[in-house]
Amino acid sequence: MPDTKVNPQRWLWVMRPKRIQMICTHATRGATTPSKQFGATVNWMESPNNVGARHPTGPLQGQPAWGSSCSAILDRNGDVGWVLLDNQSPTYGAGFGTLFLPGNDPYWVGEYASEWEWCQSANREDFTTAQYDRGALEYAKLCLKYDIPVVHLTLNHQVEPAPRGLTRHDKTENGHKLGKSDPGTKFHEEDFEDLIRQKKVELVGGTDVAVTRVYQMDGKPEVYTEAGLHIPDPDAYNGLKATTEARGDTWEHTNLPPNDQLWRLFALPPSYRA
Ligand SMILES: [Zn+2]
Repeated sequence: MPDTKVNPQRWLWVMRPKRIQMICTHATRGATTPSKQFGATVNWMESPNNVGARHPTGPLQGQPAWGSSCSAILDRNGDVGWVLLDNQSPTYGAGFGTLFLPGNDPYWVGEYASEWEWCQSANREDFTTAQYDRGALEYAKLCLKYDIPVVHLTLNHQVEPAPRGLTRHDKTENGHKLGKSDPGTKFHEEDFEDLIRQKKVELVGGTDVAVTRVYQMDGKPEVYTEAGLHIPDPDAYNGLKATTEARGDTWEHTNLPPNDQLWRLFALPPSYRA
């Protein structure tokens, strides 16, 4: 099966208000068999019944305001259903937390995150090797493109400034508030991180991807380490050593990927969306 282009209802997305700096993982857990999760989730994105709330007042009164949404659906065979473009945010995948207090600037997860629904039934069977493999490839592309460190974050307080990294619904304040347990204990987070790093090497070459060199939208080069530490002058670090600490480990890095390899990656047409 090739990838699928999903045609979501118009109220399931808004123009993305902030640049992508997170990837959030969910599990579908629909009330059907594992093999039918993908089709059921595609249908739900395209369904006129997927309405979370309607506009209470004003010119749009009574029309759908939001629904359950996502950026992409990852089938159990590794195929992807592309729901939204990068510049579209899902109106609800993981939303706000609780801290609507004076002086706080709360954010909703989809504001910053590409949100991925991994197909898994309500029986919570293991995710498949094909899902980890394809998921790691697509997450690696996003991590390279948007300078996202390959570290899973627990978002206890969804207030600005928002961090950069990977997260999962059960590690967000929104998930805690709503009792969400996806993707849950069957999601092998640390092995998946290692696989994303491996895919980054395959995409850009080199021997070390624990320091990522990424070109911003305006063309100005900037470097972030895997732990999200910003290095303002990348040329000064080219060929030099840097260290990264995450998950209690420290790595030393040399061999930043050469510019031309990164440009080659970013020059790739977005045909994987087709
Ligand atoms: Zn979720």
